[in-house]
Amino acid sequence: MHERLTNWAGNIVFSTEQVHRPKTIAEVQETVAAADSLRVLGSGHSFNRLADTGGALLSLAGLPRTVDIGSDRTSVRVDGGLRYGDLATPLATAGLAVHNMASLPHISVAGAVTTATHGSGVRNGNLATAVAGLEIVRADGELVTLTRDDADLAGAVVGLGALGVVTALTLDVQPAFELRQYVYENLPAAAVRDALAEILAEGYSVSLFTRWTGATIDQVWLKRRDEMPVGDFHGATLAGGPRHPVPGMPAENCTEQGGVPGPWHARLPHFRMEFTPSSGEELQSEWHVPREHALAAIEAVGALRERVAAVLQVSELRTIAADELWLSPNHQRDSLALHFTWIADTEAVLPVVADLEQALAPFAARPHWGKVFTTPLGDLRSAYPRFADFAELAHRFDPNGKFRNPWLSALLGKA
Ligand SMILES: Cc1cc2nc3c(=O)[nH]c(=O)nc-3n(C[C@H](O)[C@H](O)[C@H](O)COP(=O)(O)OP(=O)(O)OC[C@H]3O[C@@H](n4cnc5c(N)ncnc54)[C@H](O)[C@@H]3O)c2cc1C
Repeated sequence: MHERLTNWAGNIVFSTEQVHRPKTIAEVQETVAAADSLRVLGSGHSFNRLADTGGALLSLAGLPRTVDIGSDRTSVRVDGGLRYGDLATPLATAGLAVHNMASLPHISVAGAVTTATHGSGVRNGNLATAVAGLEIVRADGELVTLTRDDADLAGAVVGLGALGVVTALTLDVQPAFELRQYVYENLPAAAVRDALAEILAEGYSVSLFTRWTGATIDQVWLKRRDEMPVGDFHGATLAGGPRHPVPGMPAENCTEQGGVPGPWHARLPHFRMEFTPSSGEELQSEWHVPREHALAAIEAVGALRERVAAVLQVSELRTIAADELWLSPNHQRDSLALHFTWIADTEAVLPVVADLEQALAPFAARPHWGKVFTTPLGDLRSAYPRFADFAELAHRFDPNGKFRNPWLSALLGKA
């Protein structure tokens, strides 16, 4: 039977079967110049129709893989189809690192950056903040290079695929570092109430996992440069063995825990690169709130705990440092991200998503661009002070809307 192309989660069946797989940049340019309507498909890990189009999809998976470390060892240039996991090994071998990674290493760098994908850490910006340069094939087929000397770069990085095809990115890198990962269980609600800011700052990267079913946070995942002192952690106890974020699930696909030191790329993601999930039985949503509202936002979700828990696999709370990228959900605000891994049932999940959006609206929550949300377009526009500048930039790179699907056209409006 003929199978239609879907995203990783299978909740989106793409509206086209036309997929271009160019092998060179010149072929990318020719394809773009000749197309009427086109969107780039990264590794397909988004949960909404952002990548969708009724025209053609363009995959960069066939481009030659590129990992060029700069001679001063402060940057790396990668191709627009490369996945983080394939960047990590050559970087680590060269004694270098990126500042952070998402929970999964299998996502493409370009796709992650364009939706402001993030890991955790009070001092860590999202993954897009590492971008020092972009090479973009515009709607007319021209290859344009943007660097930090160009005012447009801060607008183009979190670009939602609306500016063109990102054929290469230059990322900041730093000397490689080791981390130790610790998992603690049953963090009491009183600790969250009294010491949330302190808890979130106790590691290079800290994640709190909860199913909202009890009065506690189920697990605290700490990724630290140094050893943890012996004893409990704000009332939570050290896990007696490896854990999966969803309690009771087998942990063999998770990165090493128990405080064993290891390279950054084997500790920052929660899941191992060797484990390749080809598809997922889940949906995801995530909202970013200013960190000063973190506790109030957690309490607002807690007030909906029964509705949330009924359609939830697990929630993760992470922090992201403020940045200046125009469409970054972390634009000019240190953030707490409230993430929800839902069961794979769109119909059951959407009403709960709408309730959460209402509950988080008083905190000016900004949704993750690559996940499930129902925020009205007007609210999205007004959530970003530089939105009008972004719309102008998108119209400049793509005057006739070649890279816009109906949703993006409605969001960006007329020039
Ligand atoms: C299991 C799982 C775990 C995840 N974990 C995290 C996490 O820890 N943190 C987090 O923040 N997010 C997370 N996400 C969300 C994910 O990082 C984003 O959805 C991201 O956009 C996926 O990248 P992709 O390459 O798969 O993009 P796709 O879904 O393929 O595309 C997303 C957007 O990027 C555009 N795009 C892709 N490549 C290019 C290019 N070369 N040029 C121009 N535009 C391009 C597409 O057109 C589209 O608009 C997770 C998703 C899954 C499925």
